[in-house]
Amino acid sequence: MPAYDKFYSRLAVGIKASDIRELLAIIKHRKDVISFAGGIPDPKLFPKSELADIAREVILKYGDDALQYSETKGLIELRETLSDFMRRTKGIQTDAEDLIITTGSQQALDIVARGMIDPGDVVVTENPSYLAAIGAFKIAGAKLVGVEMDEHGMDTHKLEEKLRSLKNSGERVKFIYTIPVGHNPAGTSLTLDRKKHIIELAEEYDVMVVEDDPYSYIIYEDGADTTPLKAIDKYGRVIYLSTVSKVLAPGLRIGWIAAIDDLTRKFELVKQYLDLHSPTLTQFIVAEAVKKGLIDRMVKVATPYYKSKRDAMLSAMEDYLPDYVDYTKPIGGLFIFVKVDKEGFNTTKLLEVAITKYKIAYVPGASFFVDGTGHNTMRINFSYPTFDEIYEGVRRLSALIKNE
Ligand code: PMP
Repeated sequence: MPAYDKFYSRLAVGIKASDIRELLAIIKHRKDVISFAGGIPDPKLFPKSELADIAREVILKYGDDALQYSETKGLIELRETLSDFMRRTKGIQTDAEDLIITTGSQQALDIVARGMIDPGDVVVTENPSYLAAIGAFKIAGAKLVGVEMDEHGMDTHKLEEKLRSLKNSGERVKFIYTIPVGHNPAGTSLTLDRKKHIIELAEEYDVMVVEDDPYSYIIYEDGADTTPLKAIDKYGRVIYLSTVSKVLAPGLRIGWIAAIDDLTRKFELVKQYLDLHSPTLTQFIVAEAVKKGLIDRMVKVATPYYKSKRDAMLSAMEDYLPDYVDYTKPIGGLFIFVKVDKEGFNTTKLLEVAITKYKIAYVPGASFFVDGTGHNTMRINFSYPTFDEIYEGVRRLSALIKNE
């Protein structure tokens, strides 16, 4: 057989399998391990029979188009539907012409990265930040600069300091990447003042903002501010990304970019080379689902359900975890971020012990930090485990933290 590795690109050589991912992949098939590691919706919530009816109707009624190739930017019906949906639910005024339908918002991140980043450009992110966004930006050659966070997300005064010093040292910053609500992994949400501050800083330092918003529909506290940055951006600085993954089903692989002006055309051209267009069939299905109010209904059901899971998780943490453990209390989204203030406690090193001895899994926090810190942190998901698993899992986690 040939030595295949000589055929690898530099990019492929640079991509390394992560030990953590491999470990977590193994436990998917182990019933004895309680996993808080996933970031996935509870499949109990998938509106299966409604989606089956819509899929059947779409194929039988519109099959000639729904099973055919379609426009790179996405079906006009879906773009118009989503444009209305964002206006109605989020106050975002984006014309259908500025929307691009993507294959999940993961592809939106890739398109933004390919369309905007040259090797050596700086992307400023929250620290920690979403792992697969970090990956997409790094593959495009970005240097990532992280900004400290507190319980309200990115500290925008620190952001200002970072932008100033990057400017002084002649670095080229392309955009600030933020997950404003129900942050993955930090579980935080930005205040309205901070959102305004980010936009003002983007204008002052002449950079763009990429707002990644999969979670702002799943909100547990009345009165929590979930205004997207995009809705209050008067300068044309914000590129907004969202997805149906958390409010309908991730398997549909439908996300979108609400872009601006010339950027829209560029992103469209980038997407053309990636996959021509996102699946026509699931675009038809999502358009019908939104029109029929299925997302609104699912949000109504998912929110109290996940809220009760979040509350169960927080109350188990309150009961079991020692007082040197700190954790976020998310007002939305699917994650709690845990910090263990114990000398030498390293969640990366302990993952294997956690799985084999304590039968519990989490995602080690260090994976999400862009500066190699965060070894005493972990990301905990509460949407997927059952209520019993939440209580038992936190008990096991507490034993791990106390004993190791
Ligand atoms: N951004 C963030 C912050 C996420 O948490 C996720 C999913 N975990 C995505 C993007 C990607 O979502 P999808 O590709 O399923 O739309």
